[in-house]
Amino acid sequence: MDILLDVKDLRVDLPTEHGLLHAVRGIDFQVRRGEMLCLVGESGCGKSMTSLALMGLLPRRAQRSAAHIRFDGIDLQQLPERKMADLRGQRMAMIFQDPMTSLNPSYTLGNQLCEALLQHRHVSYTEARDRAIYLLHRTGIKNAEDRMRQYPHQLSGGLRQRVMIAMALMCEPDLIIADEPTTALDVTIQAQILRMIRELQQEFGSAVVFITHDLGVVARIADRVAVMYAGEIVETAPVVQLFAHPSHPYTRGLLNCIPVRGKTPPGSRLAAIPGVVPSLVGQVQGCAFRNRCPQAHDACEEIPPNVVIDGGHYARCNNVHLHGAEVAA
Ligand code: SF4
Repeated sequence: MDILLDVKDLRVDLPTEHGLLHAVRGIDFQVRRGEMLCLVGESGCGKSMTSLALMGLLPRRAQRSAAHIRFDGIDLQQLPERKMADLRGQRMAMIFQDPMTSLNPSYTLGNQLCEALLQHRHVSYTEARDRAIYLLHRTGIKNAEDRMRQYPHQLSGGLRQRVMIAMALMCEPDLIIADEPTTALDVTIQAQILRMIRELQQEFGSAVVFITHDLGVVARIADRVAVMYAGEIVETAPVVQLFAHPSHPYTRGLLNCIPVRGKTPPGSRLAAIPGVVPSLVGQVQGCAFRNRCPQAHDACEEIPPNVVIDGGHYARCNNVHLHGAEVAA
């Protein structure tokens, strides 16, 4: 198993006027070279904070700590900011939900695409331009040469997101972190962009951490899935296993909320998980899901163990443990 990213006990805390908010509460996960790992959960569960923590792009007031965050053997926590910025440009890239977060409105697309490559690789302007045109073309943008002379505001949201994907691929990164890249797009464009991300990921061999709240998206593109709830990863599994045998009550609740073709009558009310997520300000006692969990019992007042269900399938739950699985080290 060729591990590209190895994260152990990652925590992100944010000071608020009510106390310290524990946005990410000690998560462990690994990303293999060339795989698509989906990090899925409701908004506020800590998935975006996780992505920013990996890229070293957290807001200044946030505090990050971890036992380690190793990228291809490099401990990102020990890396000075200048070297981290180099790594971000060359070997790690990020695609945001809103492309305007990354695109500069005052420069042409051609300038912005070429700059990434010229800064980090010893290539001529012509080589950078050729690669930019190739990638615009590969991301489905017609008249790529003309588009190079345009500014971001001259493109639709869908085209801007395609440009962002081309930009992320300019340096052929080993790892791409995509934070809800299709959420703001309409359903047809979303489907096209998901298909394209999957094809390009397979063509270029980059690993992708794909962040989403949408299990439909997960089913389409993931190799493996990590389900987040209240700042923790509560279940990790290969995608087929997760959908066939969801083990954590939260994962099962999420799956019950999505419509199933042929089973959910048109116009019927979709299920919802009752209750609310606990406040992450201060310490959460026991299992964070216990105020919403239909299987909660006395033992859930203690922090549940991370249980190995089989090979790559884990769930953080007392009930899984009761059914005879092993506790992870
Ligand atoms: Fe439910 Fe208990 Fe499992 Fe938490 S540990 S998900 S409360 S059964």
